[in-house]
Amino acid sequence: MTDYDVVVVGAGPAGSIAAKTAAEKGLDVLLIEKRQEIGVPVRCAEGVSREGLEKFVNPDSKWIASEIENAEIISPSNHKVVLSAENAGNEVGYVLERKIFDRHLARLASKAGADVLTKTSAVSFKRENGTVKLGIRSMGEFSEITAKIVIGADGVESRVAKWAGIDTTLKLNEIESCVQYLMTNIDFDDDTTYFWVGRKYAPGGYIWLFPKGKDAANVGIGVMPSLAEKSAKWYLDRFIEEHFPDGEIVEVVVGGVPVKGAIDTAVADNVMLAGDAARHTDPITGGGIINAMSAGHHAAIAAYEAIEANDYSKEFLRKYDEKWKLDFGESLVRNKKLQEKMMRLDDPTLDRLAESLEGMPIEEMSVRRLAFELFKKHPRLLWDLREFIV
Ligand SMILES: Cc1cc2nc3c(=O)[nH]c(=O)nc-3n(C[C@H](O)[C@H](O)[C@H](O)COP(=O)(O)OP(=O)(O)OC[C@H]3O[C@@H](n4cnc5c(N)ncnc54)[C@H](O)[C@@H]3O)c2cc1C
Repeated sequence: MTDYDVVVVGAGPAGSIAAKTAAEKGLDVLLIEKRQEIGVPVRCAEGVSREGLEKFVNPDSKWIASEIENAEIISPSNHKVVLSAENAGNEVGYVLERKIFDRHLARLASKAGADVLTKTSAVSFKRENGTVKLGIRSMGEFSEITAKIVIGADGVESRVAKWAGIDTTLKLNEIESCVQYLMTNIDFDDDTTYFWVGRKYAPGGYIWLFPKGKDAANVGIGVMPSLAEKSAKWYLDRFIEEHFPDGEIVEVVVGGVPVKGAIDTAVADNVMLAGDAARHTDPITGGGIINAMSAGHHAAIAAYEAIEANDYSKEFLRKYDEKWKLDFGESLVRNKKLQEKMMRLDDPTLDRLAESLEGMPIEEMSVRRLAFELFKKHPRLLWDLREFIV
């Protein structure tokens, strides 16, 4: 039996940043990852904002596939609105090579002093004498580890959340169903990300194209199963047939993205959840990498403070809830409301809105400005969305 201050379950962006930060604070940290290779298979379109990424790590050409200058939003009847990358929000700036990126983050955790075990799953959990006895299966062998704090960074299907009794349940309209192909032999500008919106393309979601260098791109879709009549794959295949009939698919990704908005609490006695496990993804874009890294950071600092105070209670760990809510919790709440309202806009409305903005100079076009211009032009149409605009 080994004792740790902190055991982090899951070596995605949330887990690796949590382990790195906790180790930097001088704690004894173990980071475990159930897969034998960190970062594989990728379940992501790999877009992040420059500013968000650079808060945590220096960009490195080894894991940056593309640098993005523009984001193009395309309406059902092909009206185009172009935004500059800085103004476009959280998923536009860099397209990562996540296989290498995730491994890099885990390496940073290890360099900071965390122990890292791959092919190691958390399989059981019980509280004992104010600590947690975590059962792990490592290379097929079962053992138990004692942890003062467990950080559950185990992704959308989190088991740690269930064990700890934290309510993260998702209703049918709180998870986007996603499919993505890595494609070659298609035409696109390699400094632009593309978003096709509208029910025709993707009911309750959107289709994206994120360049990965000059000759390949992630082309994917997220749909809301409660609104879609067919599967996500069906809509994506139809789109590809129309837009990229000569494209070749070289990799397939499937996955779910939680779009729940903010949960009440991500803590229980001895436990904090970070990233997808805590539903920290943006309900509009589905982007979760930067919030996951931020949450991992905040959880590690709260773990350090709890260990200093020798208090691992839920009440003490609420400090962490306060931190992530202050950082990005409000935007989760706001964007969940906005997502619900936007899902009600029909395709002719989206076309009218996009048409009225087409051709505006991109350097003047931030998301806020765009919303403001729209509201000026279509006050009656957008009355329902006014609280998000003015
Ligand atoms: C199709 C798709 C496209 C996306 N596109 C984007 C995008 O462009 N930009 C963006 O910002 N976000 C995107 N996201 C969301 C993004 O991928 C996630 O928000 C992000 O990976 C969350 O990081 P995380 O560390 O919380 O979880 P994850 O990256 O999911 O990591 C969790 C880790 O925990 C491990 N694990 C699970 N259970 C256990 C266990 N019991 N024991 C040990 N290890 C365990 C898993 O193997 C995994 O490695 C996309 C998601 C999907 C599905």
